[in-house]
Amino acid sequence: MAINWFPGHMNSTRNAINDRMKAGLDVVIELLDARLPGSSANPLLAQLTAGKPTLKLLNKQDLADPERTALWLAHYNSLPDTRAIGLDASNKAPAQALIKACRELAPLRGGMVKPLRVLICGIPNVGKSTLINTLASKRSAKTGDEPGITKVEQKIVLDQDFYLFDTPGMLWPKIAIEESGYNLAASGAVGRNAFDEEEVALELLAYLRRHPAYLDMLKARYKLGEVEGMNDEQLLTEIGRKRGAMLGGGRVNLQKAAEVLMYEFRQKVLGPISLETPEEFKAWAAVAEER
Ligand code: GDP
Repeated sequence: MAINWFPGHMNSTRNAINDRMKAGLDVVIELLDARLPGSSANPLLAQLTAGKPTLKLLNKQDLADPERTALWLAHYNSLPDTRAIGLDASNKAPAQALIKACRELAPLRGGMVKPLRVLICGIPNVGKSTLINTLASKRSAKTGDEPGITKVEQKIVLDQDFYLFDTPGMLWPKIAIEESGYNLAASGAVGRNAFDEEEVALELLAYLRRHPAYLDMLKARYKLGEVEGMNDEQLLTEIGRKRGAMLGGGRVNLQKAAEVLMYEFRQKVLGPISLETPEEFKAWAAVAEER
């Protein structure tokens, strides 16, 4: 699937990250979507900040499958110079966990002479603004432009010797893994008119039905009987019928059915679901590598 979509400001964001690297950077916080912690990671960010320890924040964990979030946290925590914690917007005081994890990643920094300088990044819709607003308001933090670096970089003082830098705009990765494209689209990270909703919904269904716990959620939500003999399109048709997505003449409106399925997935109406495990993601990446 081709996702022909790039959020604006790619170049200014890249420049801002490069400027931050030159000015001094100790830890990178990469905000990930806990439902797709592999696909929502940005290889371009890793490239731009090579050599810096990274805190992976698995955000929106309230929407994700907790068993799988645990697998992903273990996976990322096993990587060198990397720590991972789960988070969601219901956590009203995320700063302490975040500060602690960053301090562990940069033990030689700290104190007024060597304050910790942390950059926070994430793909669109991952919850960065929400988190930053929580951090900034809870700490009554000083926010504003950091002079001399770039007019648009925001500095949030989370602790006396702990500065969080937020770059404007977005970095969007070149999506090399096909499944990642589908998962990013299903999660809501991609602009709506950049993909075919029916195609993405069919992929989502194909994935969910392969996993018994998720298939049970589908069956329960849409009161489905046996779906064994159905192909994905027939299954989407049946879901459309159950949810009243009809055209005239008793025909199902597949576009509407696709929209309903995606909306209900995103809102956790089906239940907590994650779209990839570390194992699955590794296998997808290996196939993409061979191509
Ligand atoms: P940004 O594009 O990364 O700045 O994302 P936003 O902060 O604007 O959040 C995108 C959407 O995700 C908004 O509708 C938020 O309300 C929602 N959101 C943010 N954090 C969470 C979370 O932890 N859990 C859930 N369920 N939704 C969240």
